[in-house]
Amino acid sequence: MTSIAWIGLGNMGSRMSSHLVTAGHDVRGFDVVDALRESAAEHGITPVGSVAEAVDGAEVVILSLPKGEHVRQVLESEGGVFAHAAPGTLILDTSTVDIETSQWCHGQAGSFGLRFVDAPVSGGTQGAQAGTLTFMLGGTEDDVADAREIVTPMAGNVFAVGEATHGIAAKLVNNMMLGISILAMSEGSQLAEQLGLDAKAFFDVVRVSSGDSWAVRTWYPVPGVVPGAASNQNFDASFSAMLCHKDVTLAVAGAEAAGVHVPAATLIRDQLQRLLDDGFGGKDCTLVVREASPDGTVQGWDGR
Ligand code: NAD
Repeated sequence: MTSIAWIGLGNMGSRMSSHLVTAGHDVRGFDVVDALRESAAEHGITPVGSVAEAVDGAEVVILSLPKGEHVRQVLESEGGVFAHAAPGTLILDTSTVDIETSQWCHGQAGSFGLRFVDAPVSGGTQGAQAGTLTFMLGGTEDDVADAREIVTPMAGNVFAVGEATHGIAAKLVNNMMLGISILAMSEGSQLAEQLGLDAKAFFDVVRVSSGDSWAVRTWYPVPGVVPGAASNQNFDASFSAMLCHKDVTLAVAGAEAAGVHVPAATLIRDQLQRLLDDGFGGKDCTLVVREASPDGTVQGWDGR
């Protein structure tokens, strides 16, 4: 049994942390939202009132936070992880952040005598719920080996990608590709509809044909086709437009810095930006399907 502090009990963290409880670990959880701490308790997490309380005496600290700025704040603030973790504590960041933040985390953690592994995940809330996420680990060999043991109950696949920040780099490239897949799926689903195809009949063809993708199989943006897709629930977020926009934006910035041309990624980034501008950042990223709709209406979405 390992004593684990879990910081951030949102869509991903709440589901992921429950597998660690099932695996027999002692998990203390903190989120700034009271209701999330209460619902985590129903899954066997011990809710605590601060980061410091969660980290005190923990052997492992796991973060599942929205953005780099939240990660930095949780780590470096007065009541934060660096100030309260015992030397040698292993910190895993499962959040999707920019590479500079991840580099900063590795450097700062080391200067406090702490160990850090970038440990972003892929697989969405469905993968988090099922314990089948793909983990991409970056750090020293020993730390990554220890991280692998901890994340295994939440994972379908665990990859030791390479040195510090290589996990997050792999994640950002992956999510740029996901964004481009969403674009293809959006346009395809709308064209199929306008050509009079039954959505389920078309889906059955595509999922075993060359138009298939993880996005199609998991998030097809027409209701009644894929159980668990946001299209069945008024496009309430499984993976929010805001978070998807964040990932693609970080990837495009990385591509620009590296001199790589990514026009398709830029297109989906801009479509996601328009969702944010229209106040739909909290809705699911697959709502970009509205861009392909002839009149902007979308099956399964009430327009709000
Ligand atoms: P979320 O917004 O649902 O959860 C993040 C949680 O962090 C929220 O509950 C928020 O209240 C909490 N939080 C923010 N600041 C905090 C602080 N200072 N102290 C404690 N808690 C704090 O987001 P999510 O969908 O669970 O995603 C979490 C991370 O995982 C993000 O970086 C996201 O990009 C990444 N991710 C998400 C998915 C997905 O499908 N949702 C998939 C892969 C990776």
